Amino acid sequence: MSDVKRYPNFIDGQWTADGAADWLPVVNPATEERIAEVARSGAAVVDRAVAAARRAFPAWRDLGAHRRADILRKAGERVSAHRQGIGEAMTREQGKPLNEALGEVDKLAKTFAYYAEEAVRVLGYTAPNEEPGHLSLVEREPMGVAAAIAPWNYPVELIGWKLGAGLAAGCTLVVKPSEWTPLSAIGVVRCLEEAGLPAGVVNLVNGDGPTTGQALVSHPDIDKIAFTGSLRVGEDIFRTMGGIKSVSLELGGNCPLVVAPSADLAAAVKGAVRRSFRNMGQVCIAINRIYVHRPLYDDFVAGMVAAAGRLVIADGFAVPTADLGPMTNAAGLVKVREHVADALARGARLGCGGKRPDDKPVGHFYEPTVLADCTPDMLVMNAETFGPVVGISAYDTLEEAIELANDSPYGLAAYAYARDAGEIFDMARKLSFGSVAINNVDAGIINAPYGGRRKSGTGYEHGREGMEGYLQFKHVRIRHRA
Ligand code: NAD
Repeated sequence: MSDVKRYPNFIDGQWTADGAADWLPVVNPATEERIAEVARSGAAVVDRAVAAARRAFPAWRDLGAHRRADILRKAGERVSAHRQGIGEAMTREQGKPLNEALGEVDKLAKTFAYYAEEAVRVLGYTAPNEEPGHLSLVEREPMGVAAAIAPWNYPVELIGWKLGAGLAAGCTLVVKPSEWTPLSAIGVVRCLEEAGLPAGVVNLVNGDGPTTGQALVSHPDIDKIAFTGSLRVGEDIFRTMGGIKSVSLELGGNCPLVVAPSADLAAAVKGAVRRSFRNMGQVCIAINRIYVHRPLYDDFVAGMVAAAGRLVIADGFAVPTADLGPMTNAAGLVKVREHVADALARGARLGCGGKRPDDKPVGHFYEPTVLADCTPDMLVMNAETFGPVVGISAYDTLEEAIELANDSPYGLAAYAYARDAGEIFDMARKLSFGSVAINNVDAGIINAPYGGRRKSGTGYEHGREGMEGYLQFKHVRIRHRA
């Protein structure tokens, strides 16, 4: 028997560990200590959760949008009330500094409030009929039972987007958080419970991908899969889900930044440092590769090295205001080292970083790393590093930079800095990514669609479009006059 606290699942309105195959450790990445354990749920547990969601579906659908909105609004208020506890759990299991974690919790509260508003805006329409005496109603109905699977990098927001949109639409859900970050997700589900969500509407099953995630996506009674995670697992889900299911996939990225000839250099450096290293680069829309107009190149690289050197790295629980904490797990660190070694072997120049901080022998810490003189064949320029590493290279014409930026199997987000209106509009039009942020590095807002092109996925989260993914059409054709 373990001496750390064990956390169960939430099924049909009950917290229960019945049927847990065994227990998975939850580890603090700053100290490498085991801080809790969660149930690893097998197929029988998943089956109970899906059955509960199915039973709860008709009543939740028929409750009506206004009542569903009330519950979502209240859930947002409960999230704000439990802000500190959820934030602390996140820092302990994921590693991001406490102030960042609290900011994420605040955004979750806003997500629930936003989808409370969208819930009552699910509108249909009438379609003209050729024959007299007929009326066509085009209505929207919830899809049914959704499986929501999330990664560990934004453990409450990525669950919250699915919960907010799915519940607003009238779906019931079975949620599987990442096995690395279950504690903050448990905190979110407690808020829904406190908000008066009926039993079975949201169920939480803990566990890893191969056991619990696989049982969930391949379950025959799931109507919709909402997945955020890696390309590899996204492709596996398509192959193994069985049956016909609606699927939305938010997958990986390898996001470019173009620093155009007219860019404000200081602003570009500031944005690049924030979006390359925030959350230790463990962000699907992190800037991974930077193309800088040759006359600005040396100053830009020097600016990046200087700014990266000023970032404070610490255990974000002890130092809530730190810029960076540890990476979330050792596997991430292995990949980072591999990408840095690959770049250096292929001729990149190390601007800074490339090693564990000297004063941090324990924890998954790594210094923010700037690699200059990079070429397209380097992993850092063509694959997702998902760590605090950025590659930089120089270009001569803006056309060339746009071509380099677009030359990727990934299409999640792109960034650009420019002051000239012509350059701004050229890049806005020609960069082929789901999101393009110009003169800022915050590509996502809750009320505009967010999704990837090419291998970065299919479907959308955020905005009305996020909710559309949980709705289906029904055409009702009525003959009302002979
Ligand atoms: P991952 O794909 O390893 O795991 C994601 C989730 O899927 C976890 O809950 C995991 O347990 C589960 N899972 C694993 N195998 C499964 C299977 N066979 N069937 C069902 N579920 C399974 O990803 P990760 O390491 O947790 O997260 C990092 C990845 O997520 C990165 O590639 C990142 O770009 C991506 N991501 C994308 C977005 C986006 O919005 N596009 C946002 C955040 C993260």
